[in-house]
Amino acid sequence: MNASRRGLLIVYTGSGKGKTTAALGLALRAAGHALRVAVLQFVKARRSGEHEALARLGDLVSIRTVGTGFVVGRPSPEAQAAASEGLALARQLLADGRTDMLVLDELLSALGAGLIAEADVMALIDARPSHVHLVLTGRDAPAAILQRADLVTEMRCLKHPFDDGLAAQPGIEF
Ligand code: ATP
Ligand code: MG
Repeated sequence: MNASRRGLLIVYTGSGKGKTTAALGLALRAAGHALRVAVLQFVKARRSGEHEALARLGDLVSIRTVGTGFVVGRPSPEAQAAASEGLALARQLLADGRTDMLVLDELLSALGAGLIAEADVMALIDARPSHVHLVLTGRDAPAAILQRADLVTEMRCLKHPFDDGLAAQPGIEF
């Protein structure tokens, strides 16, 4: 742990593409400086290309999904349980002293879908060690989190290939 480093709360939000990939880009950069990075992907159940790629980086970056899939309408108890377990895992990773950057991908989507409570997320933010960089992604970040963040970037969609009827492609969408 480097006592002189100040951990940042970083938020990638908005409806344009690039939130998760920006967070993964940061994870890659941090790993290059031997920062220990953990990535938890909320909501998603599917393992995207980043899982295979990060596995090849060895023990510098860990990644796992803590979701049951995209939520439509009222969330199922299974989806809520998975998100709660994800939050508990995040608390452990923050407390174990071996995490320098924690990426909670789609945590804001889990909040928006009603899988977890905003108060629990605020508590997690408050409880993190001061040197840990915490990165949150997902559409529609609540005002309280934006206010607390050190860095907020809103992705804005100007064009997306889906608008032209193109299907999701490996390496681009997943
Ligand atoms: P990425 O994972 O590519 O960085 P993201 O995290 O910003 O994207 P999410 O809201 O998590 O985007 O949605 C994931 C999927 O939705 C991606 O496959 C992405 O291509 C697609 N998507 C994102 N923005 C848009 C948009 N404005 N219109 C249509 N599809 C989109
Ligand atoms: Mg995303």
